[in-house]
Amino acid sequence: MSPANAKLNAFPVFMRVDGEAVAIVGNGEEALAKARLLSQSSAMLRIVADNAGGGLLDFIASTGAVHIKAAYEAAHLQGAALVFAASGDEALDRCVVEDARRLSIPVNAVDRPELCDFFTPALVNRAPVAIAIGTEGAGPVLAQMLRSRIDRMLSPSLGRLAALAASFRAAAEKLPRGNRRRRFWNDFFAGAPARAIEAGELAEARGAALDLLASSAPAEGHIALVGAGPGAEDLLTLRAHRLLMEADAIVYDALVPEAIVAMGRRDAERLPVGKRKGCHSKSQEEINALLIELGSAGKRVVRLKSGDPLVFGRAGEEMAALREAGIAYEVVPGVTAAFAAAADFELPLTLRGVSSSMVFTTGHDLKGNSLPDWAKLAISGATVAVYMGRSVAAEVAGRLIEAGLSPDTAVAVVENASLGNRRRFHGTLADLPSLEARADLTGPVMTIIGDAVAGANFEQSEPLAAHKHEGAASAVAEGVGQ
Ligand code: SAH
Repeated sequence: MSPANAKLNAFPVFMRVDGEAVAIVGNGEEALAKARLLSQSSAMLRIVADNAGGGLLDFIASTGAVHIKAAYEAAHLQGAALVFAASGDEALDRCVVEDARRLSIPVNAVDRPELCDFFTPALVNRAPVAIAIGTEGAGPVLAQMLRSRIDRMLSPSLGRLAALAASFRAAAEKLPRGNRRRRFWNDFFAGAPARAIEAGELAEARGAALDLLASSAPAEGHIALVGAGPGAEDLLTLRAHRLLMEADAIVYDALVPEAIVAMGRRDAERLPVGKRKGCHSKSQEEINALLIELGSAGKRVVRLKSGDPLVFGRAGEEMAALREAGIAYEVVPGVTAAFAAAADFELPLTLRGVSSSMVFTTGHDLKGNSLPDWAKLAISGATVAVYMGRSVAAEVAGRLIEAGLSPDTAVAVVENASLGNRRRFHGTLADLPSLEARADLTGPVMTIIGDAVAGANFEQSEPLAAHKHEGAASAVAEGVGQ
């Protein structure tokens, strides 16, 4: 927190510039930068440039700004609401500042804070919403960093949502003050209207807002099935992050790291449903029931699943249950483990002339009598990503070899893909069974098989074969199976 006595020397205000003239004096990059910034507003730009550079000329041509092509004189500032001295020439800038002050027009001199009546902010523009970041000239780089962070946090459609909100203000004023009105706006900005705007459905958003106005029923619940990615926090999507920050409740699986759950709104309910040291996991039916219960209570729920929610995540069952219960939901994709594993190995999942198809499988379906279709794809060159494959590694290798895949086919294995503690192994299909005995692999493991794997970078990985015996020995030493 800032100390109580930390005072701002420059107080931010939003100045009305619609239809007003803003004068910029200068020929070069500084003038162009200010012109670009101001062109985000509906001010009429007046650019005083006797010898404008190419960039500035292009800008003037493309925006229709007024160009005064003459040596600067005070009369050029007449009637302007704001003035920018951006000539890069100190004497001229000083002269512009003095003239502006004489005319009682606030003035900014580029790179000369001591001459400025006001500073220009780093700007996040979601018109009509604007977020202005100022450092009183102390840290323009800091301001830009903050700007890009805030920019990423906010939906690109925020402006459209705010514009729609403006059109509902009069109607909302008619609602009883207090709870009822607050709930309308909460549901408006975080509920169905916001989601419809996000999806580009303006008419639907307007309809949803009208429904909210008319209904006195409690807020409708909504479940987002969100991919949390393979583990690294910064592989979360921006949309997932935004939903987490808006959630009333977060229902998450064991593989989702605490650090990602912790990104949620501070007062969100956090409900683990997967097996985590010492805790019991819920059955799929119990999870479905929990989601329906939360949704029926009008909560905004983020159902966080590792990787992508639609890949071996039992999302199909959850979506069916939600549909059945009439609860609205959406799906937010995430980086699936196979992609994170491939990235960790610099492994081209498709490789021109070698592999042009991919199989995502669990390996568990190899246990039946007949070979699944994907085994044929593997033999014809597909890259195979095996989820949950550690305990069935021997089965996978054996059946694929039996079906005709060469025992020499390249294999890459990653434990904890994308995370700092990841471990990488490489070898051939013949080495793969050794995985089963590896009691030291306690994290999630992804196995990738195929000729394209030979194109990976094995500099950071250990050979699988080297562990064949050692692994078995240490498994015995650790008392596996006790
Ligand atoms: N929906 C998830 C998969 C869930 S199944 C996704 O799209 O990634 C769980 C399996 O995913 C694990 O057994 C493991 O095979 C794989 N997995 C998940 N995270 C992983 C990680 N960080 N590294 C390696 N494999 C991972």
